[in-house]
Amino acid sequence: MPEGQTVLSLLRKAEDKLSSVSHDLARRDAEIMLAHVLDTSLARLPIYEQRIPPLHIDQFERCVRRRQAGEPVAYIIGEQEFWSLTFKVNEHTLVPRPDTETLVEVGLRHLTPGKPTRILDLGTGSGCILLSLLHERAEASGVGVDKSSNALAIAKMNADQLGLLSRCELREGDWYEALREGEQFDLIVSNPPYIQSSDMLALMPDVREHEPHSALDGGVDGLDCYRRIASDAAFFLCRGGTIAVEVGIGQHEDVADLFVMSGLEAVSTHADLAGVMRVVAAKKAAES
Ligand code: GLN
Repeated sequence: MPEGQTVLSLLRKAEDKLSSVSHDLARRDAEIMLAHVLDTSLARLPIYEQRIPPLHIDQFERCVRRRQAGEPVAYIIGEQEFWSLTFKVNEHTLVPRPDTETLVEVGLRHLTPGKPTRILDLGTGSGCILLSLLHERAEASGVGVDKSSNALAIAKMNADQLGLLSRCELREGDWYEALREGEQFDLIVSNPPYIQSSDMLALMPDVREHEPHSALDGGVDGLDCYRRIASDAAFFLCRGGTIAVEVGIGQHEDVADLFVMSGLEAVSTHADLAGVMRVVAAKKAAES
C-alpha cells in the first residue's frame, strides 16, 4: 500500500480536518464515513487490510468535504442506526435521534406481545418509530402519516428493507386528515416538530442548515402540533388505547395539560437516558 493510504492515515488526516465541525466526534465521524465507503463495519475497520483503491479514497475525501461544510454524517452516508436497525435517511427526513428510542420503549409497554394491535405514527418521517415498534411486535400493524411525500418515499424503502411493508401503510396527509372516519388505533405515537419558531435560528448549524424545517418548527410556543395531535386523539384511539409523544426540554407539563384538556386520562411522563422528560403518554378511558 503506498504511503499515506492506510485506513489509519486516512482517518488521522480526516480527524484533523473535521475537528472544527465535529469536535469530539471527529474521529468517530471519519470512521463511520470510511467504513461506509469501504463497505465494511466499524468493528472491522481497524483490521481492514486490503489495498484501498484510489476511487474509494476519492469518495472518502468527498465525504469529508461534505462533513466539513456542516452536512450531518447520516445524510452523507444516507443512513442512520436507530433501535439497532439501519434506516435510510435524506434531507427530507429528520435524522433519527437516540432520545427518540425512549418513545419506542414507552410505546412497546403498551403493545401486548402476541396481541394484534394497530399503531398510528403521526409525522412518521423516515418511519423509524413505527417500524421499530412493528419490528418488535410481530402481530402489530400500523399506519405512518406524513405530509411530505418525499419523506414517505424513504419510509417505504425502510419498511421494505426491514421486511415490514406488509404490516404498514404509509399515507400522505396532514395529521389525522390522512385517516378514514371510524379508524381507531391501540397506540398513537408521534415525534412532532417542537422547536419554538424563535429558537430555530439558534439551532446548531448542522441541524438548522440541513434538516427539514417542517420537521422541526413547532410554531410560536413550540406546541402547535401537540394541540392538533391532542385535540382529536380520543376520536382515533380505541377504548383503553394509549397516545405517547416525544417532547422538547421543558414541554412535558404543557403537553400533559393538553392531553387532560382533550379528555384523556392516566397521563404519565418518561425521562430519556440523560434524565430529560422526553415522552408524555396518556390513555383514553376503557369505559365511557
Ligand atoms: N418520526 C420521525 C422521527 O422521529 C420524524 C419526526 C419529525 O419529522 N418531527 O425521526
